[in-house]
Amino acid sequence: MTVTDNPALQDILTRATLAQQGETARALKKPQSLKRVLRMAERALDRAEQTIAAVSEVLPPPAAIACQANCPYCCHIRLTASPPEILLVLNHIRENWDEEAILALRHKVKNTDAFTRGKSDEERAQMRLPCPLLKDGSCSIHSVRPLSCRAVVSVNVKACKQAYSSRMENGVPMHEPQHLAANAIGYGIYAGLVDSGYGVENIEIVAALADGLTNSDLGRKWLKKQISLPS
Ligand code: SF4
Repeated sequence: MTVTDNPALQDILTRATLAQQGETARALKKPQSLKRVLRMAERALDRAEQTIAAVSEVLPPPAAIACQANCPYCCHIRLTASPPEILLVLNHIRENWDEEAILALRHKVKNTDAFTRGKSDEERAQMRLPCPLLKDGSCSIHSVRPLSCRAVVSVNVKACKQAYSSRMENGVPMHEPQHLAANAIGYGIYAGLVDSGYGVENIEIVAALADGLTNSDLGRKWLKKQISLPS
């Protein structure tokens, strides 16, 4: 029996996806409000953590989870997220960072974006450029990091170092239930977006930050379907 054949695990994942789908669609009901979408994205991250805890009880990891806020090995790949998650990150930065820090991030993002925009997963793995949200080896937005970051869960930090050294030729031994739990919430967000007439936009985070840090109206325009975010 594979992990995905486990009925208890399947039940948790299905219920989490459906709950998230409903909440996403409700958050996008007219008259639309960016505040409601941001709240939904925040709650989606909470739901992801609850789902991760629930699946880990059914199928505990074979060893302690090695991931920590200050472990940056996997933060050198192409990262994508749904539009609500991207808008939550932008909002978090605007509300919690001072002007100087935002300006420094804007420069860093612009420089990275000049190299990375439009590049494939493989090209990005070869480039091995750090996510511009890394600061002194730690994620500077850890509390609102996207689901894709939460889905990469290692039980062996040595393997992560090797994956980094090999430019991701060597994989990371992941705890699959936790990976599936984070993805289940992502599927729920996308299903809710589709139910509300939005496309399945898998947004590349560096390009989206480059656009969003210079355009404070990005979220409202996306909500009104006046723009697409860069994929
Ligand atoms: S958002 Fe944070 S956790 Fe995710 S890749 Fe960037 S630095 Fe790493």
